[in-house]
Amino acid sequence: MAKKRGILIHPEEVGNYRADILVESDLNLVAIHPKGGVKAAETLNDMLEFVKTDTFLEFAEKVRNKGIELEYEFHALSWLLDRKLYYTHKDWFRMNKDGEQVHDFNMCVSSRDALELIAERAAELALKLPFNTDRYFFWIDDVKAFCQCPHCKVLTPSDQAMIIYNHILKGIKTVNKNASHCYLAYLDTIAAPKNVSPDAGIFLEYAPILRDSNLLINDENCVKNWE
Ligand SMILES: [Zn+2]
Repeated sequence: MAKKRGILIHPEEVGNYRADILVESDLNLVAIHPKGGVKAAETLNDMLEFVKTDTFLEFAEKVRNKGIELEYEFHALSWLLDRKLYYTHKDWFRMNKDGEQVHDFNMCVSSRDALELIAERAAELALKLPFNTDRYFFWIDDVKAFCQCPHCKVLTPSDQAMIIYNHILKGIKTVNKNASHCYLAYLDTIAAPKNVSPDAGIFLEYAPILRDSNLLINDENCVKNWE
């Protein structure tokens, strides 16, 4: 039997109603998931304020008293690397296929300074998540958009994601030496990285969002799931 059985809920769902359902269930983990998309940094900031409120703290007390652990999962990159920095550090952002440096999504993973910054910001963010376990889920942006600069274009999207996750974990470990961090296998990063290895403490989070959930994940007659 799995050691952890849990669900993800949005911050808007946190409250007595969900807490009572969780307490009556045999789940032992609940993760809070603010929405991603272009407003990911905004919804994350909203959640960081929400976790200071009585509503959240009462919810946390109720579920934790039942032995249900709390985690947080969200698209963090636009919070870790503020898009406004584009105007002073264009080279920190990704190059698109037309050779233009753009600040829409993700980042240039060949920029040492940008990687150092996201590591520092990840440490800061880790300290803002009350009652979190030692597992962290600071995902990259929720899109298919990676860096095509001369240094990055030899790297697969999964390689680029792994570089980012290794740096995020390095940062978090400065404030929690027991920390571990996910590698989110999802959309363009569903394949394993080819040129970059996970650092110690990286674990796989497998999220085949495009699979057909009406069928078994290994259904041989379903091309989508077979892929
Ligand atoms: Zn690059």
